[in-house]
Amino acid sequence: MRIGVPKEVKNHEYRVGLSPASVAVLVQQGHDVWVQQHAGTAIGFIDDDYRAAGAQLATDAAAVFHAAELIVKVKEPQPQELAFIQPQHTLFTYLHLAPDPHLTQALLRSGCTAIAYETVTDAQGRLPLLAPMSEIAGRIAVQAGAHCLEMASGGRGVLLAGAPGVPAADVLVLGGGVVGRNAAAIAVGMGARVTVLDTSLSALRELDAHYGNRIHTRVSTPAVLDELLPQCDLLIGAVLVPGAAAPKLVQRAHLARMRRGAVIVDVAIDQGGCVESARPTSHSEPTYVEDGVVHYCVTNMPGAVARTSTLALNNATLPFVERLAGQGIVPALREHAGLRAGLNIARGQLTNAQVASSQGLQA
Ligand code: NAD
Repeated sequence: MRIGVPKEVKNHEYRVGLSPASVAVLVQQGHDVWVQQHAGTAIGFIDDDYRAAGAQLATDAAAVFHAAELIVKVKEPQPQELAFIQPQHTLFTYLHLAPDPHLTQALLRSGCTAIAYETVTDAQGRLPLLAPMSEIAGRIAVQAGAHCLEMASGGRGVLLAGAPGVPAADVLVLGGGVVGRNAAAIAVGMGARVTVLDTSLSALRELDAHYGNRIHTRVSTPAVLDELLPQCDLLIGAVLVPGAAAPKLVQRAHLARMRRGAVIVDVAIDQGGCVESARPTSHSEPTYVEDGVVHYCVTNMPGAVARTSTLALNNATLPFVERLAGQGIVPALREHAGLRAGLNIARGQLTNAQVASSQGLQA
């Protein structure tokens, strides 16, 4: 199959759809891969790496789209990319169409087929192409939080690990799913005292079995949160109610009862945030202080470590790209229910019920 990898054009997006190693696998399987010049340069994947992997280099995005049928990207198409998308194309990328009627209509008009990473499922019904980014965001949450606790960031000047004779910091993680588990692992590794709250007993059981008495687990209730918030140095918001906006577990009134210079990292900000006072921030201005509490609410945290994120994303996406390219788009979708769950648009027809219902349309 003819596969294309354009350079990402979204603001501050440095990830790339296929790494040179992924390209090499696909070329060895007999596929033709076109990569736009400088697509991976910012993260150290230079054009010569792609050439060595067997890719053909294209001077611009138009040439990539012209040459390829399967387009492997990271972010949803940006306005300047829409003109390139034709009925011959199958897009394989994060799409997030539900809240974006404009992009949905543009893709429907293009006549293309679009498979969204975020709705592809595995045999257990989990979201295997979303999980790597949650793993990374959970890990970044602790290192970002540790940095925010420093005086220069407005924090209370507390080291997560403490020091001999001085207690470690208290880290409270709301939600023990993928983000929460990864945040807990790093916080424990950095020597903090960690408590994880979840409404799911099975999530808490898993953490308890893994960490024993190295972390505390509590069932998430408003009373438990009231009890723990005044003592925490770093709060990490990692809850998710699938398909819904994040529940506002921490109210603005809670801030007054928190320590001055405590830090909130609300990872769930991309679902609206689980902290009432959280509002989206960016990598160029990641924090603000409200009621003496530092807030870090970056909506695309994995973008901070674009090289690691690209490699982690490729580990998850490559088997699906191999399947789509090897079997052909339609046979692969017919055979693989998880891939079919990722299908949002088929030749200009909307096929995803949640996207349709969120926009008052029919799938
Ligand atoms: P997940 O489904 O694996 O875990 C969510 C957990 O929250 C579950 O264990 C669930 O039981 C728990 N939960 C639900 N309601 C709760 C409550 N009231 N109290 C405590 N726990 C509760 O989801 P995830 O992959 O860990 O993602 C968490 C959030 O992080 C999502 O909103 C996701 O979109 C977001 N995220 C953000 C970024 C970013 O860059 N900001 C990156 C990746 C993921």
